[in-house]
Amino acid sequence: MQGQMMTLPLTIPSLLEHAARYHGDTEIVSCTQEGPLHRYTYADAQRRAKQAANALVRLGVKPGDRVATLAWNGFRHFELYYAISGIGAITHTVNPRLFPEQISWIIRDAEDEVVCFDLGFAPLVQAIAADCPSVRHWVAMTDRAHMPALPIANLLCYEELLAGEPDHFTWPPLDEHSAATLCYTSGTTGNPKGVLYSHRATLLHALSSSLPDALALSGREVVAPVVPMFHVNAWGLPYSAPLVGAKLVFPGSCLDGESIFKLFEREGVTFSAGVPTVWLSLQQYMRQSSGRLPALQRMIVGGAACPPALMHSYEQEFGICLQHAWGMTELSPMGTVNTLKASQLTLDPEARFAIAVKQGRPPFGVDLKTVDDNGHELPRDGHSAGALMVRGHWVVEHYFGIDQSPLVDGWFPTGDVATLDADGFMQITDRAKDVIKSGGEWISSIDLENIAMAHPAIAEAAAVGMPHPKWDERPLLVVVLKPSLLATREQVLAHYPGKVARFCIPDDVVFVEALPHTATGKVSKALLREQLRDYHWPAANQPEVAK
Ligand code: ADP
Repeated sequence: MQGQMMTLPLTIPSLLEHAARYHGDTEIVSCTQEGPLHRYTYADAQRRAKQAANALVRLGVKPGDRVATLAWNGFRHFELYYAISGIGAITHTVNPRLFPEQISWIIRDAEDEVVCFDLGFAPLVQAIAADCPSVRHWVAMTDRAHMPALPIANLLCYEELLAGEPDHFTWPPLDEHSAATLCYTSGTTGNPKGVLYSHRATLLHALSSSLPDALALSGREVVAPVVPMFHVNAWGLPYSAPLVGAKLVFPGSCLDGESIFKLFEREGVTFSAGVPTVWLSLQQYMRQSSGRLPALQRMIVGGAACPPALMHSYEQEFGICLQHAWGMTELSPMGTVNTLKASQLTLDPEARFAIAVKQGRPPFGVDLKTVDDNGHELPRDGHSAGALMVRGHWVVEHYFGIDQSPLVDGWFPTGDVATLDADGFMQITDRAKDVIKSGGEWISSIDLENIAMAHPAIAEAAAVGMPHPKWDERPLLVVVLKPSLLATREQVLAHYPGKVARFCIPDDVVFVEALPHTATGKVSKALLREQLRDYHWPAANQPEVAK
């Protein structure tokens, strides 16, 4: 017997319809490339998304076509999120921080028909246009007065496109399983791979990620997605904020500590999300300026392991909870969020902090397990580390354009190495390819980095396994010092005894001006290894490591 309840498809435009109807006067504030802050409401956004939908249809965009964006977080990008997916086409967010050849490769792979770009990316567009034969229209996301002078025949102006269109549009009925958005992994190994999200997966992700034990979003929050809308859809916030009717604050391209601080202060931001490097620069600015953000309650940190020292500092110095989360492009991206359970609230602060530094536990909709080299499930004891596998309602099944599924027995192998404990808390010990393998033992590069980051003179650190004649690999620590602070190799290494087993202590320290970062703001171990290719262990320090 069938249930007798309504079946309304779980589709993306329904989120903005809801926000416009029930939170119509809630603001969306954006830093813009043209200069002044832009301010409007969910009702305005819905009207303009409908104008954009009419314009795309007039340009001949059909269901299933890919429309790309090369854009920062802002109101026009937000409108396009809804307009493109709303007409049944696919919003393809391209990461503009990649190399131009990677960007044109991705645009060709996706066969994008239209590319909408922010003003600042006009030179990039000029550089790649000739290598993107599928693109019929390049749309500059600005008004006529700010149009860039580009030698491209098929160049259009976003505001002119919208101006001629009515602000009413009936979203077509869409199959909730149809494709809505496309995002490529950053391709640290091989070519990037496209992950094609469905309307249904996106809606379920938005619902689950808003829950109190996940991001705890509500209509009373002021949400600032600092994580870019081209980095896994800003972790879903452009969908979950309208779902709950939260005020949205988009930082545009102003992502330095000072700009973020001033924007958060002016707009009363209560909640944000970003990678550790962003929160490091905000921390530095707040320390230098003695500025405080009393409205700011919580910030999600993910995309890379957050150093415990950073979490500690935000809580102790600024009264802000830096909440750890883990995810991947292949997971839409949310996999876990760290929220303590009732039974853990009464633990002493040290024990609570030991849990808080883990990557967290999965919300409903995500299931995790760890396996050994033979694929056998490991105990959930908080100690046994193995390959992390995941399945769930918003987890990839196939990559775009690739027939062979990456799944193993119905589970997606994440490439991360992790432990799970009896309460469901997951802790990443490393990425499989970054684990340092010393004499048959595994050393967690994340552990070594976290210890280094607790040193008062160290701004950023990365641990890599360097080839070693006796032990296969030994850990080398690469360190960036804080401005005007000094530390010697010996002082840095003296920080380790007692915190890790002796064989885990790095054998050497290299000081650098800056670490290489990926297009999503993580330390690029691949580039770092490349930069260290002429490194030799100091002769005086041929490691004699007791195991
Ligand atoms: P890419 O895999 O292309 O670098 P993603 O943004 O999808 O791009 O990165 C996912 C990976 O980032 C995860 O597999 C994991 O290795 C790492 N990661 C994400 N969040 C965390 C976290 N909180 N702690 C440690 N690693 C993390």
